[in-house]
Amino acid sequence: MNASTQSVRAADPCAGAGLLTVDEALIRIMADVQPVRETERLPLSAAFGRVLAADHHAVIDVPGFDNSAMDGYAVRSCDTRDERLLSVSQRIPAGQIGLALAPGTAARVFTGAPLPPGADSVVRQEECRVDAAAIHVSRRVEPGENVRPRGHDVGAGNKILARGEVLTPQAAGLAASVGLATVSVYRRPRVAVFFTGDELADWGADLLPGQIYNSNRAVLLGLVRALGLDAVDLGTVDDCLEATGAALKAAAAGADVILTTGGVSVGEEDHVRSAVLSAGTLDLWRVAIKPGKPLAFGAVGGVPFFGLPGNPVSALVTFLMFSRPYLLRLAGRAAWEARWWPVSAGFTRQHPQQRCEFLRARLRHQGDTLYADPCAGQSSDALTGVVRTVGLVEIPARRQVAHGDMLRFFSYADLLG
Ligand code: AMP
Ligand code: MG
Repeated sequence: MNASTQSVRAADPCAGAGLLTVDEALIRIMADVQPVRETERLPLSAAFGRVLAADHHAVIDVPGFDNSAMDGYAVRSCDTRDERLLSVSQRIPAGQIGLALAPGTAARVFTGAPLPPGADSVVRQEECRVDAAAIHVSRRVEPGENVRPRGHDVGAGNKILARGEVLTPQAAGLAASVGLATVSVYRRPRVAVFFTGDELADWGADLLPGQIYNSNRAVLLGLVRALGLDAVDLGTVDDCLEATGAALKAAAAGADVILTTGGVSVGEEDHVRSAVLSAGTLDLWRVAIKPGKPLAFGAVGGVPFFGLPGNPVSALVTFLMFSRPYLLRLAGRAAWEARWWPVSAGFTRQHPQQRCEFLRARLRHQGDTLYADPCAGQSSDALTGVVRTVGLVEIPARRQVAHGDMLRFFSYADLLG
């Protein structure tokens, strides 16, 4: 990207009136990502949510020995073929080792106990009648019944986790089970954020006439942290070139990426564009997305820069569709594409729009069908709907929607997980 491309770009004529499609904007953005390279080794307990910087392999077989899946009696299955009265020769709780099982005997075992040498199956205690020091087995037992064989979950040397995956609680559990105490993870990228607007007041302050609270600051700090990156909060910045330039300079020092909201249109009070251009490069795109449209992407002092729209829902949606994949890739994540689910439209849309629309929507089951129902109040300044819904249903550009049409649904849980 360079300064000569600063003006509003025309793109796919199919997108209509000089608009870039969502996919085109995403391709351009993703072509630019340089994932962080620095790694560190952390104990499992300190690595939750971190991105693995290497493939990880099992040190041991899991389980490490054949063991009982039930409370019951370990037997030699051949001993249950005819005579099913077996004397109980030993007792093996989990964590202890038994002796070789003599023919015609059974070992009392508990879930997780190692099978004694010679035993090949376990009879559930419910299937035995206990009589003094012997058991009557009610039926013939097959080899391997109720036994968890050595290595049935993971074999020593198997790859258990891949580079680019996140260490979820489940993944940490798997790593612990195969003998790993530490994992190699990528450094967490730093995302500097600031918010332009003379009308913005900090949370908790008294509002002066004409002011609004800086809600984007809460949304974006939360989004960046929810994705597992560090947010460097530079707060609210006045609508003037000097303040915006100073904030950009501060943001570029030590951050891996800069995110701002507001001031990216071409109005008199929009200084972000000029400030970025005087310190770096900028593409100002009109993306065929609603809510959204103006999206600035560039670099300041070599640090990538996203200028998101000021309206809170536009900022949220453009973050989710464009900044999110960029930040995930930057953080070393292998899977950055937004997952979507096919849903049926619980609504109709007669008049097609030039822009692809993301409507805040709820999900509803009716019979075997999952319907998406947009909430009332889709205005780009109205945050209530994003809290009262579970995700975004997409209406592609220039599409009419009939009740029951299949559409893509992006859940907030997937986007933020
Ligand atoms: P702008 O993109 O700066 O023209 O702002 C568009 C709209 O978003 C205006 O109504 C602003 O007041 C509003 N807005 C801008 N920044 C924020 C913010 N940080 N929090 C809440 N609303 C904002
Ligand atoms: Mg503004």
